Amino acid sequence: MTRPVYRFAPSPNGHLHLGHALSALMNFDAARASGGRFLLRIEDIDTTRCTPELEEAIHEDLAWLGLSWETPVRRQSAHFADYRAALETLEKQGLVYPGYLTRREIRDAVVVAEARDGRPWPRDPDGGPLYPGDAAVLSAGEISARKAVAAPHALRLDMKTAIARLAAPLTWQELDHPEASSKAGTIRADPAHWGDVVLARKDTPTSYHLSVVVDDAVQGVSHVVRGRDLYQATAVHRLLQMLLGLPEPRYHHHRLIEDGEGRKLSKSQDDTALSALREEGASPRDIRRRVGLAD
Ligand code: GLU
Repeated sequence: MTRPVYRFAPSPNGHLHLGHALSALMNFDAARASGGRFLLRIEDIDTTRCTPELEEAIHEDLAWLGLSWETPVRRQSAHFADYRAALETLEKQGLVYPGYLTRREIRDAVVVAEARDGRPWPRDPDGGPLYPGDAAVLSAGEISARKAVAAPHALRLDMKTAIARLAAPLTWQELDHPEASSKAGTIRADPAHWGDVVLARKDTPTSYHLSVVVDDAVQGVSHVVRGRDLYQATAVHRLLQMLLGLPEPRYHHHRLIEDGEGRKLSKSQDDTALSALREEGASPRDIRRRVGLAD
């Protein structure tokens, strides 16, 4: 029997906090309990926000927590060619198009459309406006002019066409767990809510969705255990897996650690940073307790 493969995949664009500790510990514990493997993956595609110092701090924090992981550690910034290859596979299927609208143009188009239609513009599960399409804002001439000068653009998935290619309804398997924050079983995935997601940004040759799906496959990840904030994104990941012919991992989305006001912790909340808690004298066992895990 092949051993289960778990991973913890932080981005080195801030310090790890208690929410990351819960995720890392759950993956590590699950790997241990099942005789599986535990991998660390550094999700550093955003080379403007990720730094070597923060990456080093991740290693330190996790080692201090008592975790160990296989080496070498996969760092996404070293694998842009893999994501490019996946993008080409989707391009060959006619599912990728360049979107020339800037963030500001999208925002303005949404304001105009909302005023015109008297109803809110559709938004994705993270609250971002769905892409209105270049033609909603630019004339045909302006679109060709931007193409002609290779103006900065994102590459987007043609969501409608992609969904239409599916041979069967899209689902994923959500695992049960004592910490479960969501229903276990077969979950119907509906990526349409996300609209034409970005697959490659103008300044980054890939995106979170594309690289996470490629890497989980490359690394043979069998169990994706991550926070509830990524539950809806799983629909996009399953779609990309189907389109790219990649295996289907099983998923578990765990509860989030909230601050005193019921908000999800963020990387700017230094009082919950593991390094700050460590300096204040907390022990790894204290951290386990604080995130509600048994010793
Ligand atoms: N890199 C993502 C984050 O730090 C997690 C990706 C995942 O677990 O799928 O939020």
